[in-house]
Formats: sequence, C-alpha cells, structure tokens
Amino acid sequence: MATAPYQELGADLHGELILPEDPGYDQARAVYNAMIDKRPAAIARCRDAVDVVTCVRFGRAHDLELAVRGGGHNAGGLGVWDDALVIDLSRMCDTTVEPDEQTVRVGGGCVWGDVDHATLEFGMATPSGFVSTTGVGGLTLGGGIGNLSRRFGLSVDNLLSADVVLADGSFVTADATSHEDLFWALRGGGGNFGVVTSFLFRCHEIGEHGTIIGGPVLYALEDTPDVMRWYRELLPSLPETLSGWIGLTTVAPAPPFPESLWGRKVCLIMWCYTGPHDQADEVLEPVRSYGSPLLTGLHPMPFDVLQSAFDALLPAGLQWYWKADFFEEISDAAIDVHLKYGELLPTSLSTMHLYPIDGAVSRVPSDATAFAYRNGGWAGVIVGIDPDPANAPAITQWARAYWNELHSTSAGGAYVNFLMSGEGQDRIRAAYLGNYDRLARVKARYDPENVFHINQNIRPASLVS
Ligand code: FAD
Repeated sequence: MATAPYQELGADLHGELILPEDPGYDQARAVYNAMIDKRPAAIARCRDAVDVVTCVRFGRAHDLELAVRGGGHNAGGLGVWDDALVIDLSRMCDTTVEPDEQTVRVGGGCVWGDVDHATLEFGMATPSGFVSTTGVGGLTLGGGIGNLSRRFGLSVDNLLSADVVLADGSFVTADATSHEDLFWALRGGGGNFGVVTSFLFRCHEIGEHGTIIGGPVLYALEDTPDVMRWYRELLPSLPETLSGWIGLTTVAPAPPFPESLWGRKVCLIMWCYTGPHDQADEVLEPVRSYGSPLLTGLHPMPFDVLQSAFDALLPAGLQWYWKADFFEEISDAAIDVHLKYGELLPTSLSTMHLYPIDGAVSRVPSDATAFAYRNGGWAGVIVGIDPDPANAPAITQWARAYWNELHSTSAGGAYVNFLMSGEGQDRIRAAYLGNYDRLARVKARYDPENVFHINQNIRPASLVS
C-alpha cells in the first residue's frame, strides 16, 4: 500500500478528506451493494472540479490507486477500492436547467432523482434509468438505458458535452467539436477516460407537463410464456411514446398491491407512456385488452413518481449479485429458461428484467458512440437480491445457473453497467463489439498509463499484448 502525506491533500481540498481513523469512514466507504466491502486509504469528498484536479495530481505524484465514486450504485462496487484514494463526487450534485435551451447541466456526483427534480419543474426530462437513486456518472458513462430510451435514446445520445479531469490532471471540455474522440469514448466507455465533473444533457418535454401514464401490469407466473410471446410481437408495433420492460418478480407485501397478491411470483410489465394524454386510451388499448392480468396499475403520475417507485423496496445496503446479456430476440428457448428460473426465484427481491433498447436507440449507428448494441432488442439482467448476507451464496448460485442456461440465446455481450467486477477482459470486450479497438486507442491517447483502471477496464492500445 502506497503511503502519502494525506494531511497535505486535506489542507488543499475545498471539500473533506476522510481517513480510516475518522468517525465517518465506514459510512463513506459503504456502497450500494453490501456484498462489497472495500477499505480505501482515503476518501476525498470533492466540492468542485479543482478538488478533483488536486486529487488526480496528488494521486499521480504519490503513485496511488485512484477510484472514482459517482452514485456508488455499481454492482461490482467500482466506486471504492482497497488502499485507493477515492475521488468521491457525491457533494458535486448541483443542477442547472436552461428551459429555453432545453438543457440541464448536472454535477458529476448527482443521482438521477436530483436531475428529475430540476427538470420536471419545467415539464421536461432527459433519458436516465429506471431507479432514481442511481448515479448519473456511472449510468451515463456506460450508456444509460431507461424509460425514455425508446423515444429519446440512451443517456449518452442526449449528452451534449462533458467537463473532464484527465489522467495528467488537466481539465477539458469534450463535445461534438472539441476532443471528439474523447467525447465518443465517454458515451459508453465508462470511467476509463477521466473524471467527469459536469454533464450537459438535452431535455425533452414529456407527458402533460411532466405527468406520464405508467405503472405495472402483473400476470400469473404460469402465463409467462404467453405474455412474453405477446410482448415481443407487440413492442415493435407500439408508438415510441410507450415503452415497457418485462420481468419476473415477487409481489411486494405492501400497498398499493392487494394483500391477496403479496408474496406471489409474477410476470411483470412496467409501462411508461409519455405522449399526449388525449391519445393515451388508443395507445394503451392493446395493453389493457390483453390476457388476464392479476393487476393493472396504469395511472397518471408525475414522471419522478414512476422513477422512484422502487426506491423504498431497494434501499442501500442489500446483497446484490448480477448476471447480464443483451438479447436481439426473446426466443422460445429463452422463454423456457425464464419460466424455469422464475419458479426458482430464491428470495422475494430477486428478479429478472429485460429492458428495451429499440426505437430511438436503434436509429443511432453502432459506431457513432462507444455504446455498441443498437440492433434492437433488450438489455437483460438477472439479479439476486436479499438483505441477509447468509443468503449471498443462494442468490449468486441462482443468478449464475439462470445465466448459464440463458446465455446461448443472447447476442453475446452484456451491458457494461450490468457486469460485476472481475468478469474478465473477454466480457468487457464483448460489451463493445467492434468498438473496443477504437476505445483502446482513445484510452492510449488520454490515459496511456491506465491511471483510471478501477472500472470495467479498457486497456490502452499500447498495453494490449
Ligand atoms: P459508482 O459505483 O459510483 O461508479 C460506477 C463506475 O463509474 C465506476 O467505475 C466509477 O469510477 C465510474 N464513475 C462514476 N461517476 C463518474 C464520473 N463522474 N466520472 C468518471 N467516472 C465515474 N443502469 C441503467 O443504464 N439503467 C437503469 O435503469 C439502471 N438501474 C439500476 C438500478 C439499480 C438499483 C442499480 C444498483 C443499478 C442500476 N443500473 C442501471 C446500473 C448502473 O448504471 C451502474 O450500476 C452504474 O455503474 C451506476 O453508476 P454510479 O455512478 O451510481 O456508480
């Protein structure tokens, strides 16, 4: 473990430096996934871009490992690392909306709830994910798949510029006309290229002044094969104002679910309609008229209510284990596997989700940004979740067994933000299809010594053997 004069760093920071002997250390090093337990050498709660520059230069001067923490949601816990200096951006969470420009500037440590709070005041949103507590930094830099993707693209498709502290401690702004290669790589290449201190996103008007129509429709688990076949045919025919992801889950034992459904394993579709409300009945008619749902919970609601629907169910501090892949189709063979492992859901929070990556996402060419899987289809994720560490082996084994049987039906690679740490270089390469070699060349230009390697690491081209 490298040692360093951390008192000097602390004195130079506008923000706070937390060391292992400090009372807030355990709280500061904790990440969302409680399966991860890392003990960094120091945590710098940066207040501004200058603090980030100071940390990068200090880290380089003292040969320290550098970890970068945005929202702390990464499944593999890549925002903190043993013996590293953690550049913690969580205090950099300002947002500024320009309503006339339809943009929002977002601090590098914001979570999506911060952004929705700011933009919805103006009836707008920018594409994010499905959960409000996820960090903007990690989610965006990996791509950003969410409820608005079908209509408006990924988060990266709406990124207009990024302020970045590079590995040499310099500060640049990357956009379509400046540092174009860096801007290309940031749009999917993760935290490999520098620390993004600020993002500028394009916003869109949604629903009726930010009120959308959405919520869950639940079907009996045994109906999964029929529901999945219907859904895979229906989705491409729907207008892009309507999106819906499909999953397998257990009904939470709490309102708004009726007690008769509590604890029941179900097939779920979460719908989100963002178009004009006077067209909603027509657009939602095929959804409302299909099959024999156990519950149809489609209602008008502010967009941020839908985005935070899972927050209470999924607080920080649970055990998580993920396995993921992209799927160009939901094949009959895959449906058999889904039903088998849906029946075996190991805990009440464990789940499987398939998120659409079609519509506006597919209209962007695969090589236009680092995010490559744009042929239509779904980003799938199998997630074992439970509060009790004693259940960690069970949720891990279930997710692995499920993935092992499903993988042959996939498109080959996974969404980089759904990888655990340590899945290996082949899985990282597979996440980028033909874009990996260009990413390695951009990495060689902006971070030739691989300073930023606590991430799904893209090795600089010069280091690739
Ligand atoms: P962190 O753990 O803080 O960071 C993750 C990685 O990104 C690290 O390598 C870190 O160094 C890097 N990083 C973070 N911020 C910056 C920055 N500003 N500059 C440079 N590098 C940075 N993904 C989706 O696309 N859509 C979803 O709907 C979605 N839902 C999720 C729901 C939950 C409950 C969870 C746990 C995850 C979800 N994800 C989703 C996955 C999510 O995108 C990744 O976990 C992502 O890494 C989280 O980003 P973070 O900033 O919170 O994580």
